[in-house]
Amino acid sequence: MNNNLGEKVSYIKGLAEGLGLQKENTKEARILISIIELLEDVVDAIDELEASQAEQDEYLDAINEDLTDIQNDIYGEDEDEDMDEGTHYVEVTCPHCQETVYFDEEVFEEEDDIICPNCGKPIYEEDEYDEDEGEE
Ligand SMILES: [Zn+2]
Repeated sequence: MNNNLGEKVSYIKGLAEGLGLQKENTKEARILISIIELLEDVVDAIDELEASQAEQDEYLDAINEDLTDIQNDIYGEDEDEDMDEGTHYVEVTCPHCQETVYFDEEVFEEEDDIICPNCGKPIYEEDEYDEDEGEE
C-alpha cells in the first residue's frame, strides 16, 4: 500500500541525485538530502507498522475463531440446561457397586429409574443402604 509513498520518495531522491546534490556540496544540499533520508526512514517505519498490523489482524481473527468454537462448546450444546441457575447434585452410593456417584438433583427427583453410571444398574434412593446384598 505504501509502494506509492516509497516510489515518490525514490523519485525525489532520483531528482536530487540527478542534480548532483551531495551533502558535501552546500548546506542546502545537506538539508535536502537529510530530509529525503528521513522520508525513506518514515516510509520504512510505516511499512513495518502495516506488516505488524496485518499480522495482529490475522492473530485476532484466529483467536476470535477459537473463542467462537469454545463458546459453542460451552454454551451451544446445552442451552436449555441452565447450569447458571445453580444445579445441585445428589451424592449417592450405588448399592450394587458401592461407587459414589452424582446426579443432577432435578433428574434425580423426576426420573424413576436412576441408572448408576458406573455399573449400569438402577439405583433407588430407598435401596441406598439396603443391607440385603444377596440379590443382584
Ligand atoms: Zn453402581
